[in-house]
Amino acid sequence: MKIALLVFALVGLAAACRNGAPAAMADLFIINAKVWTGVPSRPEAEAVAIAGGRVAAVGTTAELSAWRGPATRVIDAGGARVLPGFNDSHVHFLGGGLQIDNVDLRRAPSPQEFASLIGERVKKTPAGEWVLGGDWDDQLWDPPALPTRQLIDPVSPATPVFVNRFDGHMAVANAVALKLAGVTVATPDPPGGVIVRDGAGNPTGLLKDAAMGLVNKVIPPFTPARRAQALARALEHAASLGVTSVRDMGPDAGDLSAYADFAESGRLTVRVSAAPSELQWAEQAKLGIRPGFGTPFFRLGAVKGFADGSLGSTTAYFFEPYTDAPATRGLLADEMIPIEGMRERLAGADAAGLQLCIHAIGDQAISMVLDLFADVAKANGARDRRFRIEHAQHVAPKDFDRLASLGVVAAVQPYHAIDDGRWAERRIGPERIQTTYAFRTFLDKGVRLALGSDWPVAPLSPILGIYAAVTRATLDGKNPGGWVPAQKITVEEAVRGYTAGSAFAEFAETEKGTLAPGALADIVILSDDIFAIAPALIRDVKVRTTIVGGRVVYDAPR
Ligand SMILES: [Zn+2]
Repeated sequence: MKIALLVFALVGLAAACRNGAPAAMADLFIINAKVWTGVPSRPEAEAVAIAGGRVAAVGTTAELSAWRGPATRVIDAGGARVLPGFNDSHVHFLGGGLQIDNVDLRRAPSPQEFASLIGERVKKTPAGEWVLGGDWDDQLWDPPALPTRQLIDPVSPATPVFVNRFDGHMAVANAVALKLAGVTVATPDPPGGVIVRDGAGNPTGLLKDAAMGLVNKVIPPFTPARRAQALARALEHAASLGVTSVRDMGPDAGDLSAYADFAESGRLTVRVSAAPSELQWAEQAKLGIRPGFGTPFFRLGAVKGFADGSLGSTTAYFFEPYTDAPATRGLLADEMIPIEGMRERLAGADAAGLQLCIHAIGDQAISMVLDLFADVAKANGARDRRFRIEHAQHVAPKDFDRLASLGVVAAVQPYHAIDDGRWAERRIGPERIQTTYAFRTFLDKGVRLALGSDWPVAPLSPILGIYAAVTRATLDGKNPGGWVPAQKITVEEAVRGYTAGSAFAEFAETEKGTLAPGALADIVILSDDIFAIAPALIRDVKVRTTIVGGRVVYDAPR
């Protein structure tokens, strides 16, 4: 990883224009707004003056009139609600961009539509590139039928196509892809996989489980150009949703290079703080990289690790067996075995000043991570280290106080709650769901929340995340009053979690997360006042304008 190179290549930012008498005219002036500043001493304002990419002042339009000069761009918000830009504390940003670029077959209602969507994508695909993704669902077809290469070969004569079912357990390849992979009538089924065949033994293109590896292994790695395209898509999507900062979880070296390229050329319209795998912690440590190192647009200084799997795949690691799968309690991640190895790496990373962010979903995995954090803190001494547990989905009641006393930030994704809430009780029973996605309990116990989406696992929209945290209304419409309603949080708490909370979780609360004078001018203007409307309507709120560093990066078509 060329960290030294890319860090030193980054752009600087103009010095802050601090509060007080105008030292210069504002570049941008937002007036006639309902500004939620996030600053307790002045929570509401009417206008924001922006100079040098930072908030110069907030107040009434009259109070700020001296900031307005002939070259000042004025945005009349028309009484709209203005918030600090959203900061998504947990995304896989390049993966999200690649997903936007993939063909989307989720809603293909028939085999004909399936083939025609692939045909359209093939026409737009440069020679040598693959058509991937898909997430098709054969159960939507009448009658349900698994797709075959015969369905898509006519629309993809020269382009390899390999598109997966939404559950990821099977995928269909066209003739070109099968040829590149060398899959023929003579290829045996690999262990743990099935090559689906017709009556004559010829592969139909459909590959199940381990057989998908036969094609996956010949898909070329992403080129820098492809990665840059994905990053551009992701940035565009984020801007349209008011996302002005993200914490990128588990980026690889190619992803980091893409961020560095974009940062250097001024194309990053979202501020990225990256947490590469804890397995490579020494690469950051040997260069002295810490959370404060970098520029306001691109930082490193954190590591991401895994303690267990997920609830959906029954691999989240619990103290007690799954209610609907009593033979298992889930699985620890490879990184946790042996636990001494994990402890040694985390202690090393922490001693080097790196921030530890560990994925833990089941109650025992969370408990074990808390043990590790306690060991690390004891070994390396007191410090403001802001340990993070990513997801922190199912917390044992005894562990909330430990989260608080260790100063652990819960980096949570509310959309997962209204998604998993449809079936989680079946899986873990009525007792454990009481402390599942326990946002209320976290706050009541003094645990800080950093909200996020886990995009592309869930939609990137912070508005949807806030809606989910406030209503807990599951996606199936079966819990309009909220699923485990005692765990609801208020709109203001959710907004705070998506702004100041995420900023704190990346050691950036003096730079962003509020509209205090001196803060980076990352701002969103919304279509509706989310503090005033009924919570059920929050999901329909749109972002009208997104501003990053005083620059308008998105303006909704009106
Ligand atoms: Zn994730």
